[in-house]
Amino acid sequence: MPRIPSIVTAISVVALSALSTHSAQAQAKPGIERLYILNCGEGTAGDISRWSPGVNEGKSMPFVDNCYLIKHAQGWMIWDTGLTDALAAKPEGQAPPDPRMTHWYRPKTLASQLDQLGVKPSDIKFLAVSHTHPDHVGNVEMFPQAMLLVQKAEYDWPNPLGVGRFKPEHPVTKLEGDKDVFGDGSVTIISTPGHTPGHQSLLVKLPKTGALLLSGDAVHFKSNWDNRGVPAGNTGQEQTKASMQKMADIMAKEKATLWINHDKAQRDTLKMSPEFYE
Ligand SMILES: [Zn+2]
Repeated sequence: MPRIPSIVTAISVVALSALSTHSAQAQAKPGIERLYILNCGEGTAGDISRWSPGVNEGKSMPFVDNCYLIKHAQGWMIWDTGLTDALAAKPEGQAPPDPRMTHWYRPKTLASQLDQLGVKPSDIKFLAVSHTHPDHVGNVEMFPQAMLLVQKAEYDWPNPLGVGRFKPEHPVTKLEGDKDVFGDGSVTIISTPGHTPGHQSLLVKLPKTGALLLSGDAVHFKSNWDNRGVPAGNTGQEQTKASMQKMADIMAKEKATLWINHDKAQRDTLKMSPEFYE
């Protein structure tokens, strides 16, 4: 007979410890809620061997340009700002100086897509850009109050045109390496130099979708990733290869899916705003 109470006690202890474990997890729950993919440009790359020398020479490819909007309990964050909204007024788009590069169009403005979601530019708390090429920083000044998260190496990179990429008065945190943006591990900037001196990618851990690695331009399309192609115009050839390896290691560790910014074939399989991932 003494066995029964001891079993009851054992069950109670298990139940209590399960309860306390549950509440500890609830307290530590990351604040990330959802992610939207915004259309920040569409175009045609004239010759994709620019990005993987010797591969697919002379072959053109449709490109897209994405921005990503993240809803977190601590506030909104936008990752990349795409081509300038002013391009939407030009139906002929923007022809590149070199026909091997990308002819871009802006079918929708960033402003209209934020408006559709009821998000005001002044609601954006953090603004991070993968790098400072014009198809990624075209609308930075739509968010003059947002804290800019950029690598110091990118911020200090001299602009060949002699024009600053960011207004000196724009609030900025100059990073030197990886950065856990909200302090809960849900959104982490990953330093991936090589395409430019301070290029960065973004690891996003969504509660249902799981881990995503947003490439920036560390890679431009899937076959470019598969063959580890290094664009001739990158600022660091060996740096680019090391960054791709770093990304592959993170993807293996976090079981993360790579979302390649300019890859239209992949983006065509994904939900665009106002639909979202959670
Ligand atoms: Zn670029």
